[in-house]
Amino acid sequence: MKIAARALAMKAEGIDLIDFSVGEPDIPAPENIKLAAIESINKDIIKYTANVGLPSLRKAIAEKLKNENGLEYSPEQIIVSNGGKQAIFNVIMALIEEGDEVIIPAPFYVSYPEMVRIAGGSPVILNAKETNDFKVTPEELSAAITPKTKALLLCSPSNPTGCCYTKEELSALGKVIENEDIYVISDEIYEKLLFEDFPFASIASVSEKMKLKTIVVNGVSKAYSMTGWRLGYAAGPANVIEGAARIQSHNTSNASTVSQYAALEALTGPQDFPRMLRDTYRKRRDLIVEKLKGIPGITCSKPTGAFYVFPNVSSYFGKEYQGTFIRNSYGLAHYLLSEAKVAVVPGEAFGNDNYIRISYSTAEENIIEGIKRIAEALEKLQTPEKVKIFQLSNTKTATKRQVELESSITREQRDALAAEAEAYLKNKNYFVWNAHINGVVVQLRTNIPHLYDFWVENWYPAQLGRNEKPGGIIYAIDGVVGREALAFYNSETKTGLLFNTDFYGSLRSLAFGLVTDFGENGGDFHGIRGMSAVCRGKGFVMIGPRGTRKTDIFYGLLNDLSFTLHSSDMIYVKYNKKYPAAVNPERKIYIPTNVSAVVPKLTEMFDLSKCENVVDKSTECETRKCRETNDCRMDKGIPYCFKASADSYAMLDPYWIGGMHRHVKTMDIRTVFILQSEGNSPVVSTLNAEEAIAILERGFPADTLASQPVPFYNNHLLFNTQERIGLQKEYYTKLFSKTNCYAINIAQAEVEELREKIIECLK
Ligand code: PLP
Repeated sequence: MKIAARALAMKAEGIDLIDFSVGEPDIPAPENIKLAAIESINKDIIKYTANVGLPSLRKAIAEKLKNENGLEYSPEQIIVSNGGKQAIFNVIMALIEEGDEVIIPAPFYVSYPEMVRIAGGSPVILNAKETNDFKVTPEELSAAITPKTKALLLCSPSNPTGCCYTKEELSALGKVIENEDIYVISDEIYEKLLFEDFPFASIASVSEKMKLKTIVVNGVSKAYSMTGWRLGYAAGPANVIEGAARIQSHNTSNASTVSQYAALEALTGPQDFPRMLRDTYRKRRDLIVEKLKGIPGITCSKPTGAFYVFPNVSSYFGKEYQGTFIRNSYGLAHYLLSEAKVAVVPGEAFGNDNYIRISYSTAEENIIEGIKRIAEALEKLQTPEKVKIFQLSNTKTATKRQVELESSITREQRDALAAEAEAYLKNKNYFVWNAHINGVVVQLRTNIPHLYDFWVENWYPAQLGRNEKPGGIIYAIDGVVGREALAFYNSETKTGLLFNTDFYGSLRSLAFGLVTDFGENGGDFHGIRGMSAVCRGKGFVMIGPRGTRKTDIFYGLLNDLSFTLHSSDMIYVKYNKKYPAAVNPERKIYIPTNVSAVVPKLTEMFDLSKCENVVDKSTECETRKCRETNDCRMDKGIPYCFKASADSYAMLDPYWIGGMHRHVKTMDIRTVFILQSEGNSPVVSTLNAEEAIAILERGFPADTLASQPVPFYNNHLLFNTQERIGLQKEYYTKLFSKTNCYAINIAQAEVEELREKIIECLK
């Protein structure tokens, strides 16, 4: 959508753009269809129709399915909807309940996983291999089915790959499905655009059993160039169609009546148009595949249908041109748009980041020109010289650890300190920025450019009207005469003050503490320090002190495609729904760079322009391990090392970890894991609420970096008075009354096994 919006804006500016991003035929719908629509208007027969569609149209659809696909349906088994998309959506809403899994072969049509999520289900992405023309095999399908699987969402011919299953391949998939209690939603919208000699087959037609398990979805959008008319349909078991009809009836009611008359003409009138369309696209397909073959580094399987090709462009990742560094398919699409003036869609949107989708629904001369431009732009991309990568913007701060906090200053003391702070905010070094932290507007007032820089990077911006006051305020002031590096906090006014420290960790922690204080005292939410992710639609939090290999375990889990990252440090939780609802308020991950020792792949994703205290001289290395073995990278000439200190940090954009489908901001918590090192107790034990709270309240004595145990493992808490600890217990009691809780004993197993145990608990 972002690429499309930019492409549109460029076209509007008069830029000569070749648009390979379109998802619709470029040839207008035939006259007879338009006339049928006009006639329905002139005859004034365009009132509401039956919710499920005009009887004549449903009859025409039944005949089409019988004559062309060998599938007999009564009209009650057919519903007409506003586009194929709504037909799929209604069927999903009718079939899928919370907790159901829907298998979606990837690459997939972008809307499938989101539709499943809206229905409360969990999309289970099944990666199809390029070597098998992006088609899943019966073995792969069989391995993905679990007792929770409710449906398979099949798209053939496929958007975005253009691949199409043969009848034999569908029969083989059918054999797997026939023995299972699952449905198939078969998206056949590109049926008429099939180029090869083999005839189109619907999976519903491979056996009587499969017909009873399949909901066929089709429409007139692609075959008759009627995308904007919004007319599609579904056919299948009467009970499913009845469910879809109920949903539609309370949503849009019938599809547009004018469009229904037009579709009736499309299905019953002359059928030359789809054939002409198919022949035109076949020629273009041959042309584009031939042209793509001429570009070095691109592989592209020959699509058998639709109007898309899906070339693998990953050999260009890691290259750059004039400072533009290509990291992924989105970056490449962006580069092609600005450098070649060609719009393509990043494969990431379809669940595979190594590819781009090129739509050849455009004239042959555009195809020739567009591919030429792509080839020229790709040729410019070069492997960056090493020295480029090392451009590190790294702020060394005067203090490197959390400063001491005095958290119960009086209102009078606060006012005096704030006045003192304000005196240091002069024109030249006066930075103010309102952050949106879980709904609380926290204003930073500072004279430290580095803190301002990291603050703006880290949070979402907040709007504050002229007469509105922020929910909290933090002063961060450097150069205050006669003061130590120290922090103060006043709860009544929600004011934090940091003096003479420029370490972002202190500012960030104070902000978390302030918002936690706000939430726990009337804001109706509380803060949990932990790492959180969603696995198959269900959220979990891992709580544990330093030294429990939390980072290693957690980031390792994210390699599994069924995990979606939520937060790696701090979440805010509300209890007004069935499950605790957790929000990650941060835009970026502020991450200790020495995690690269346990999760090397993260290193290349650090934002090198947002680093703090990264060691850049071998003499400053705190570990010295590599020096002992003569293996210090800095001694070898590399100007920095991420592993050399426990006090260095970088900003990490969660997007880079796995793209937009692998990162969420909100989730429900179903499971809590408490990591500890507990001698001989089993690797996994179930905890009840009291046991879990007792562990958390005690803190973790072995947390070597804390001078004393940190209750609730939450070093962002500003108070540890009895009253405040009581408040924490109340919130955690709510948490554990609505979730499963397990203690994981890290002393009993290696990281790999710990991950497996965690995955088992989540099943
Ligand atoms: N299914 C697939 C695979 C598609 O590519 C599209 C449109 O791009 C649709 C469904 C939606 O079709 P309609 O325009 O009929 O809603």
